[in-house]
Amino acid sequence: MPELPEVETTRRGIDAVATGHTLTGMVVHESRMRWPIPKALPDLIKGQTVRACLRRGKYILIEFDTGTVLIHLGMSGSLRSVMQGELLRKHDHVEWLFKHATLRLHDPRRFGSVLWHPRDQGPIEQHPLLAKLGIEPFDPAFNAKYLHDGLAGRSMSIKQALLAGEIVVGAGNIYASESLFRARIHPKTKASRVSLTRCARLALAIRETLTDALESGGSTLRDYVNATGEPGAYFTLHAAVYEREGQPCRVCATPIKRIVQGQRATYFCPSCQKV
Ligand SMILES: [Zn+2]
Repeated sequence: MPELPEVETTRRGIDAVATGHTLTGMVVHESRMRWPIPKALPDLIKGQTVRACLRRGKYILIEFDTGTVLIHLGMSGSLRSVMQGELLRKHDHVEWLFKHATLRLHDPRRFGSVLWHPRDQGPIEQHPLLAKLGIEPFDPAFNAKYLHDGLAGRSMSIKQALLAGEIVVGAGNIYASESLFRARIHPKTKASRVSLTRCARLALAIRETLTDALESGGSTLRDYVNATGEPGAYFTLHAAVYEREGQPCRVCATPIKRIVQGQRATYFCPSCQKV
């Protein structure tokens, strides 16, 4: 599943291709995504200039003068710029056409979405899908105290509290395991019991883990491709614990353990990470 670094990598690629350019057309080959793609959307944005490509959580926001296109890559989506004349692949559902380039949304499982938010319906931050998202991990306001306050009163495990994305976005399944390892916090620790000192370590660990992933172009999904089609290689090279069950911890050589929390796999070092 594309996580925040993959989405940010994609956003940067799309921004370089689309921002400042006029959309000459939008073609929907398959409108049945997680929610149907609005039928009127191609006519609404055709001929408009892309003002900015932003990101909030895992949503890519393409801003036009009259509103914003929200794109989510779902479980298996990718958005990339293709060469003119490149044949349509199976599962290429949507195309955005520019004079110099074409962007294609590819999504075999169709859990992704393409939605429209007209400007006259208020700021995009107030969109129901965005309004409840936690703070961005690179926001300067995301610090030990913010995290500690957010975790207070939550009886779930720290892993599940991170995964919910209501306190901070970006610590999805892979990055939650990796960040907790880096902060030496056991994933089963009750969220409300993580001390301020450990929250300081964890906030830093989340930022560092995501920074590392971004620097290597992001990649969690094996067949993931970024905006120009290059596959990322972060986790084949750098994962400390994720999908390393039974392999020696890179710090202490204890075999990495796998448990299931909320139906999602968690990987950790039983020796380095304390409850
Ligand atoms: Zn260890």
